[in-house]
Amino acid sequence: MNNKIVDAFRKLIDINTPIIYINDYDFVRVDEIIRKVVGNKKVFEWNPVTGTTDFISKQSKGGFDSQTLEDFLETKYSDEVAIEKYLVLKEVHDFIDEPKVKALLALMSQRKLYDREYETTIIIVSSVINVPIEIEKYVSYLEIDFPDENEINRLIDEHIEVNFYDKTKFNDEDREKLMPSLKGMTAFEIDRMLDMAMSSNGSLSAEDTEMILRQKKQMVRKSGLLELIDTPESLDDIGGLNYLKGYLERKAKIVKHLSDAIKFGVTMPKGVFIVGMPGCGKSLCAKASASLFEAPLLKLDMGSMMGKYVGESEKNLRKAIRIAEAAAPCVLWIDEIEKAFSGVGGENSDVLTRMFGYFLSWMQDKKSSVYVIATANNADKLPPELKRKGRFDEIFCVNLPNKDERKAIFEVHLNKKLCPKENIDYLQLVNGTEGFNGADIESVVNETVENCFLNGKRALSTQNLLDMVKKTVCISMSCKKQINDMKNAFSESCFKDATTGEVTNIRV
Ligand code: ATP
Repeated sequence: MNNKIVDAFRKLIDINTPIIYINDYDFVRVDEIIRKVVGNKKVFEWNPVTGTTDFISKQSKGGFDSQTLEDFLETKYSDEVAIEKYLVLKEVHDFIDEPKVKALLALMSQRKLYDREYETTIIIVSSVINVPIEIEKYVSYLEIDFPDENEINRLIDEHIEVNFYDKTKFNDEDREKLMPSLKGMTAFEIDRMLDMAMSSNGSLSAEDTEMILRQKKQMVRKSGLLELIDTPESLDDIGGLNYLKGYLERKAKIVKHLSDAIKFGVTMPKGVFIVGMPGCGKSLCAKASASLFEAPLLKLDMGSMMGKYVGESEKNLRKAIRIAEAAAPCVLWIDEIEKAFSGVGGENSDVLTRMFGYFLSWMQDKKSSVYVIATANNADKLPPELKRKGRFDEIFCVNLPNKDERKAIFEVHLNKKLCPKENIDYLQLVNGTEGFNGADIESVVNETVENCFLNGKRALSTQNLLDMVKKTVCISMSCKKQINDMKNAFSESCFKDATTGEVTNIRV
């Protein structure tokens, strides 16, 4: 068991915290931690299924004892006041809003704070965070970290032993290969993965990595906060943006040899912020970086962070960051960051401001090998703190592609097509596509190939492509106003040009 959690838990008890909130569903592991922390002190449990329950045997103590949460708290409020005891309330998020329950929790908390004789600590263990505003000030959250490498190794060993699996068949190389796929999950989830791996073919080996990653992907998605993205894209799939590509290559070299780099004095790369025109390859860069860093890509969905309960949104952000940290080395992609943080400082933005503060300080102090790639179309509404040095290593601006880049993008997409092609005159294509973004060019290629196929053409020609270019309503035509607004907004800030590396304003 991770001693850091036990120490943090003890500290909360030592400083007389009235209510400790543990947002977790791995009740077996949390019970183990509680037992380790409170030793042989009295522990009473209540949960919605068995009501008042013996903490050790898990037998319901119904009958003479109370069954509702309200009754349970009422009994314990005045019961054996001077004896140190712990009330473990499990999955109470649906019951905690009842007026009497809230009042009892508040009364017990106040008594704990002001009456030296009163020794009752409440521990809430719930898979959902719901803290009514009346008791918010008495609550401290305890984060249960994901198992570290030592603990994961212990879980693997346990599985090998329980399943009588021949230890010699699972060598260090298997262990090393399996390790990254098991990071960033709870002990409960790791247990399930190992069970699945063992039951599928009766053995455990590096070959199970693929199955574990498949399952993990679903699990991460179910958390609703992060998505594990497949990253078949490579830098070769990006036309243009040469300076940014070179920059990412350098950072990848550092991350892949992190310990040597740090020993040499290199600072741990924090991440990059890519702002600019829609459809110009920002997401593509995030995806290609993960392949480049040879690390998983986790996409953070900022919209889903905002919960309906007090404290839930902040907790969600912490949880997402915790998952990313546990899964490190990884690339954490925050798409459309402006949608999340552009309201900071506005009316009713307390939660957002706190989340933003937490994110900034995490970025500032980050020591883990989580490389953050934030992407945004519009940076003018973002709080300036985010754009200051120290948070991201660099801010890049992606413009509409210039001539050379348009040629490169045509090449990328045409090379992917298997159909026969006549000699392509790129100069004509490039001259005809001023104001097109990468997505427009991709669509021209796709539509042309489709047309050629449907019309029974033997090979694709420059003229076919030019005909499609003429029919295409490109970004500069369809989003004239937005592009102008963006241009004005960008003219107030200076970013590094993703194509040339020069410090420049956006060019349209
Ligand atoms: P948005 O801001 O709208 O999310 P984005 O800048 O993230 O846009 P992408 O999602 O990376 O844009 O690109 C959209 C599509 O256009 C992709 O399918 C990609 O293949 C193509 N594309 C865009 N830019 C390039 C590029 N520089 N090279 C090759 N393909 C590109």
